[in-house]
Amino acid sequence: MLISRCKLIKYPEDLPDVSVIVTFHNEAWSVLLRSVHSIINKTPKHLLREVILADDCSDMPHLGEPLEKYFVDYQKVKIVRATSREGLVRARLRGYRVATGAVLVFLDSHIECTEGWIEPMLDRISRNWTTVVTPCIDVIDDDTFGFRFQGAKDMFAGGFDWKMVFIWHSLPENEQKRRNYEDHLPYRSPTMAGGLFAISRAYFTYIGTYDDGMDIWGGENLEISFRIWMCGGTLETTPCSHVGHIFRKRSPYKWRKNVDVVRRNNIRLCEVWLDEYKQYYYDKIGIQTLPEYGNITSRIELRKKLKCKSFEWFLKNVYPEMWVPGESLAYGQIAAKTQPYCLMGDCGYGQTGKPISLVNCSSGHNKVMYLTMAKEIKRDNGCVDYSGKPGIQMESCHQRRGNQEWEYREDNTLYHVFSQKCLEISQDGQTLFMNTCLGTDYQIWLWNRNGPPGPTRNWNSLD
Ligand code: UDP
Ligand code: MN
Repeated sequence: MLISRCKLIKYPEDLPDVSVIVTFHNEAWSVLLRSVHSIINKTPKHLLREVILADDCSDMPHLGEPLEKYFVDYQKVKIVRATSREGLVRARLRGYRVATGAVLVFLDSHIECTEGWIEPMLDRISRNWTTVVTPCIDVIDDDTFGFRFQGAKDMFAGGFDWKMVFIWHSLPENEQKRRNYEDHLPYRSPTMAGGLFAISRAYFTYIGTYDDGMDIWGGENLEISFRIWMCGGTLETTPCSHVGHIFRKRSPYKWRKNVDVVRRNNIRLCEVWLDEYKQYYYDKIGIQTLPEYGNITSRIELRKKLKCKSFEWFLKNVYPEMWVPGESLAYGQIAAKTQPYCLMGDCGYGQTGKPISLVNCSSGHNKVMYLTMAKEIKRDNGCVDYSGKPGIQMESCHQRRGNQEWEYREDNTLYHVFSQKCLEISQDGQTLFMNTCLGTDYQIWLWNRNGPPGPTRNWNSLD
C-alpha cells in the first residue's frame, strides 16, 4: 500500500517541468513501450516537457524504423541515436545535450511509473536545486512482468562495499530519528542504485554531469553519488514516489572484449574521489599495479574547481555506518590452537545462513576475517551469527550487536557476549560449537590483534 500520508500531500501547481531521458540498448518492444507509455500517462501534461529516447546503437530491427513510426504522432517523444555503442553514461549524455526541461529524470528502459511518481521529486528539487532525488524502486517480476509494490516498512538506503558494489541497507536509526519516524518524509541515502533519479538540469551541469570516460555500465552510480555529497549536494529518496524496475538475472547485452569494464570504471572513480581509501578497493580485487584506465585529468580538475570535500568527510558525515577495514580490532585468519584448521565463513552477495566451517589453514582459500568496531566477526558482507540454537552461521551484518557481538578476549578465546559462551573446536577437529567458557586449548584461537594497513576515520580532525 502506498503510504496514505503521501496521498494527502498537495503540491504546488508551478513545479518545474521535466525532460525524461530513457537510454536503451536492444530493449524488448513491449517492455520499452510499457516504460514510455507509463511516463506519458502518469506525468501531468504541463510538467512533461519531453521524453528523450537515447538509443545506444541497438541492432534489433524493431528499434529502428518501427520505433520512429510508432512515435511519429507523439510530439513530446524524441529519439536520439548513437552510431556506435557508447555505453550507458555517454548515451545518457547524448540525451542530456538535447534536453530542455528544468529537471532531468534518468530512467532505465524497463520500468513503469506509477500515479503521482513525479510530483514528490520535483517538489524537493524546486525547494533546493542541489537536492538529487530517487524514487522508491519497486520490483517488476522478471518472469511474469507483474508489479510488486513495496510498502513503507521496507525502506532502504543505498550503500556500497569495498568491492565497489552497490548495496541496499535498512535505514539507520539516526536517519529515522531525524525524520521523526515519519514514513512519508524523504530520507537521505549515501549512494543510489543509479537507474532512476531526478536532478535539476542546471545542477547536473554545474557538478560536471558524468565521467564520459566510463564505458558500458558500472561505477557511474557511485561516482555521481560521492560527487553529489562531497561537492555540497544532497541525495535522497522520497517514499511517496514509486517506479517499478525489472531486475534482470543477468546482463542481456554484449560487453567489451578483453577489458574488465566495471573494474576500469571503478578505478576511474577511485582515482578521482576515494583519496587514500582507494587502497581498500585495490586490496579487495587484488591488484598491485593499475591496468590502463584512461585519462582523468579533467575529473580531478572538476573536483578542485568545485572545492569538494574529502572522502573521509563523506564517510564520517554521510555514511558513518560504513565499515572501514583499518579500524578493525583484529584481522587475518583465525586459527585453532590445537589443530591446523582455520575458520571459514562464506557469504557471497545475497547468500546468507551458511554455517561457518573449518578449512586447512594452509589452503588457498581467502579466510581473512575482521573484528569490526561494532564487535562483529566479518568476512565480505557476512558476519558470524549465533542465535542460541545449534549452528553458528554467516548472516548479513546488522551492526546491532545481539547475535553478532563477539569479543576476542585476552586469553585468546572468542566470546559471544549475548549467550556468554565461547567458540570451541571438537577434539577431532571436525565441528564447531558454542560452550561454557573454560579457556581450554580447544577454545583458544590465534588471530592478529590489529587492523590491516590503511586509513581510518580521523574523528578529531574533521567537523
Ligand atoms: N544501457 C545502455 N548501453 C549499455 C548498457 C546499458 O544504453 O551499454 C542502458 C540499458 O538499456 C538500461 C540502462 O542503461 O536502460 C541501465 O542498464 P541495465 O538495466 O542493464 O542496468 P541494471 O538496471 O541491471 O543495473
Ligand atoms: Mn535496469
